[in-house]
Amino acid sequence: MTIIGIDLGTTNSLVSCWINGESVIIPNALGNRLTPSVVSVDENGEIVVGEVAKERLITHPGKTASVFKRYMGTSKAFSLGTYRFLPEELSAFILKSLKADAEAYLGKEITEAVISVPAYFNDAQRRATKRAGQLAGLKVERLLSEPTAAAIAYGLHQQEPETKFLIFDLGGGTFDVSILELFDGIMEVKSVAGDNFLGGEDFTGLLASLFLSHHQMEQSELSGKVQMALWKQAELCKQALSTGRDCTMTLQFEDGVKEISIDRARFEQLAKPLLARLQKPVERALRDAAVKLGELDAIILVGGATRMPVIFSFTGKLFGRLPANSLHPDEAVAIGVGIQAAMKERHEDLEEIILTDVCPYTLGTSISKSLGNGRYESGIFDPIIERNTVVPVSRVRRYNTLIDNQTAIAVDTYQGESRLVENNILLGELTINVPPAPAGLQSIDVRYTYDINGILEVEVSSVETGEKKVAIIQEKETGLSLEEIAERFKELEAIKVHPRERLENRLLLARGERLYEESLAEQRQVIVDAMVRFEDKLKKQDMREIKQEAEKLKRVLDQIEEFLRLW
Ligand code: AMP
Repeated sequence: MTIIGIDLGTTNSLVSCWINGESVIIPNALGNRLTPSVVSVDENGEIVVGEVAKERLITHPGKTASVFKRYMGTSKAFSLGTYRFLPEELSAFILKSLKADAEAYLGKEITEAVISVPAYFNDAQRRATKRAGQLAGLKVERLLSEPTAAAIAYGLHQQEPETKFLIFDLGGGTFDVSILELFDGIMEVKSVAGDNFLGGEDFTGLLASLFLSHHQMEQSELSGKVQMALWKQAELCKQALSTGRDCTMTLQFEDGVKEISIDRARFEQLAKPLLARLQKPVERALRDAAVKLGELDAIILVGGATRMPVIFSFTGKLFGRLPANSLHPDEAVAIGVGIQAAMKERHEDLEEIILTDVCPYTLGTSISKSLGNGRYESGIFDPIIERNTVVPVSRVRRYNTLIDNQTAIAVDTYQGESRLVENNILLGELTINVPPAPAGLQSIDVRYTYDINGILEVEVSSVETGEKKVAIIQEKETGLSLEEIAERFKELEAIKVHPRERLENRLLLARGERLYEESLAEQRQVIVDAMVRFEDKLKKQDMREIKQEAEKLKRVLDQIEEFLRLW
């Protein structure tokens, strides 16, 4: 049975598989290695995913969702026309599409995947990722941290027996730093740190904000479509600054065109606060791993946003050496997760690398401390598993009753680094009964078990009665229960997904619509003419003629795109 590897990214997703002794990225129906993590509902109520959906971000923002990975594990619902989807359901559509691509490429049904997640993803986010797999009809027994995946990809590439890596992973929406050591076939994660709310999109945001402030405009004044168009321009400008020295952002308004020019020096200046935020997790990861900068053998940049020269020079300065870049920053994670999937399949041509991982944040419970005279200070965080402890790990701590004749003890579980629980994230609550007795005489044992997939189980037992609550944490997340998943699976199955075979034509039409909205006057006429001709051929269903007309339309759209870029 073939297991695929999936890099479910904020901006783009990739699918890989072990073929002829190597991890290969599988192209999607349009022949591309990256599938944009965008989902849209079209006028027929069909789901479109990837490139076509990305085109619709501008033309149909109310029916299109992107960047939903940031909200995995939360109850934030995305409205797409008349549908409402949770982030895990939107992710399921992406996974389904990648599964279909893999099936078409490999010529067989695929039912299992290893999916990568940011090292910093918490329990709720990881569970949501697994549920997304289930909703897509994929068994997901193994989640793999993205930096570990990248290190595996590099580790196999370099074939050095011993290496200490620092993985600097700046994606669209998240930032992860990990320190790993490969030693005697064991890939050990030494530490991880990061920021779940920092990524390439924040750099795009800088340019969008600059545009608005330059023209003394507020984002709230703009329609959804104009906001999307502004974001797109900012994104194009950011990418242009990765290769050129300056660029002009142009946006069409009803009362005319507004623009702003920016060069790299200005962008670097603007980016300083974000760069400062990048430095902190790097320092923390080094400190937690007790590794000095000079001991690192390789600095590896991963994630699309590391293509920005400002990141290359920032990391160069920070580490005092140039980062490695022999693998494509967009593909390293997918290659690694493909290798891991193959290891899970136990491929003979692949020696298993034993993975150790760490728990990325401290897990603990809430306690009260006596202040004397019957007074207590409550809400104090008591760590049970400290951050960067190697997993799997199981730790137990004993707690006593606080007041006379107390009949129950509430055990809350928090994740975070603050001394006070109110500043940490509440993961779950549990209560266990204890026999009445004077204060301090009844005890409970609280055991936290954190497994290799980053899933936490809490077990609480009364020392005297032996009563146990083997607690699957009642998570605060409002994700789906098992029954709901089964139910929702059926519902999602019933929603039609646009057929893979016709995606190319669909993409042309979506792109035509977007360019029509972005252009004016004569260009619009040219687009309309070409699209009408193409739609006419589509109706007649003569494949040869459709192909010819599609090529013509593509040439027209390429020209318009080029015209808009230069303008
Ligand atoms: P990922 O989540 O790894 O796919 O990274 C996506 C992020 O990389 C997005 O914020 C993109 O804007 C950014 N990105 C992709 N290509 C470039 C580029 N050439 N220059 C700057 N940023 C880029």
